[in-house]
Amino acid sequence: MTTTTALHDLTVAQLADLLHARKVSALETAQHFLTRAQAHASLGAFLDFNEEASLRQARAADLALAASRGSATPTLLGVPLAHKDIFVTRDFVSTAGSRMLAGYRSPFDATVVAKLAAHGMVTLGKLNCDEFAMGSANENSAFGPVKNPWDLTRTPGGSSGGSAAAVAARLVPAATGTDTGGSIRQPASFCGITGIKPTYGRASRYGMVAFASSLDQAGPMARTAQDCALLLSAMCGPDPDRDSTSLDVPAEDFTRSLNEPIASLRIGVPTEFFGEGLTDDVRAAVDAALKEYEKLGAKLVPISLPRTELSIPVYYIIAPAEASSNLSRFDGVKFGHRAAQYADLTDMYKKTRAEGFGEEVKRRIMIGAYVLSHGYYDAYYLQAQKIRRMIADDFQQAFKQCDVIAGPVAPTVAWQLGGHGNDPLADYLADIFTLPGSLAGLPGMSLPVGLGANQMPVGLQLIGNYLQEARLLNVAHRFQQATDWHLARPEGFGA
Ligand code: GLN
Repeated sequence: MTTTTALHDLTVAQLADLLHARKVSALETAQHFLTRAQAHASLGAFLDFNEEASLRQARAADLALAASRGSATPTLLGVPLAHKDIFVTRDFVSTAGSRMLAGYRSPFDATVVAKLAAHGMVTLGKLNCDEFAMGSANENSAFGPVKNPWDLTRTPGGSSGGSAAAVAARLVPAATGTDTGGSIRQPASFCGITGIKPTYGRASRYGMVAFASSLDQAGPMARTAQDCALLLSAMCGPDPDRDSTSLDVPAEDFTRSLNEPIASLRIGVPTEFFGEGLTDDVRAAVDAALKEYEKLGAKLVPISLPRTELSIPVYYIIAPAEASSNLSRFDGVKFGHRAAQYADLTDMYKKTRAEGFGEEVKRRIMIGAYVLSHGYYDAYYLQAQKIRRMIADDFQQAFKQCDVIAGPVAPTVAWQLGGHGNDPLADYLADIFTLPGSLAGLPGMSLPVGLGANQMPVGLQLIGNYLQEARLLNVAHRFQQATDWHLARPEGFGA
């Protein structure tokens, strides 16, 4: 375990122990992962490296580790990670997967990036994602798709596809992601890793390039629930001066209750998550996971989330509405791309935006502007807001009967790259199980629970009530103590 060849097989917790015991240095660790990430560049997971900055951070971590000798508990000091390219970073280019921001350098670090750096984590680079986090397959990135390490002809999911692929391929022990409608949970499921999206407002959105501000939330992606707990503890906390929607809830140690028994746990199983459209292979893996929970002493309680289907039209009205407003800042004046030639100011705006934005982003700006327009606002946007509230209320009804909710993350395993052709609706429909929790602002996670069709990973989604992240991580951790699906690895990316 102490040889560098196996370093990439270690979890965050194991690496932290090794670093703490000074059996390996942060510098060696960073170099090992950088070499590996560069060797697997063809996966398309990374968009930017800055070796000098990474090694500088690693050296600083080594100094801090030497100084902390004797302290009882290992920390995240010296553990490497990479960030979804939706987070702005001073030392790395920040593109949000868009041509609009190609080559853009931010003057500051996103709060989440700064917090993880303050814990001594070493940033190895930036990870590919769908343009402005809009997508479910990472195919909307202006910088090319990402390949799923389990099958290079398949999507890693999206929009945090680079994060999921990098963790699954062991190019990094952990990564950040963001989830607006499922972008942490779905790629985690498609790549056989663990990821958690906390309660809306838990983590600061400062420095996260905004997509839909009432939904966007940051979270960690790693191989185990324990690793996610370690990272999430460092990421969360109020940021009142910079994100007015950040919750006034103190940072929490999410590892503290990982081992709590789940013998009296009531798991709500929503009927609507198991209807038509769910493929047999995913259903079988999810059912087997639920049976495992019964073996661990949990009780399954059938529940109903009656407006599950409505979450698709509601989300695809609200998210584009917010996006159309957020993206108005990309006008060629303040940030990024500007058309080379134009007749006047209006022409400059038009050409800049026509050149800088990809097809899906333009589609959403148009949908958003339409649903917010005079005459349609009441019919679409206002209605959607009302149903959003009802969806949130449905969850509160359900949580009277259960402690957590469990079901599939997505109706299928990862599909073929290009598999949805030019049909954006096919992507939208596949979001059906992640959107309800997002609209309600609830914490949700995905953990690997089996292999489905074509030996592709299947994730189990766990949804908790507000601020119940510790409970979710505990429930996931107990499963990972009892089973070894989280150890399954894509062939060709092993030791
Ligand atoms: N697939 C959803 C969308 O395209 C969710 C994306 C996300 O969570 N960022 O909007």
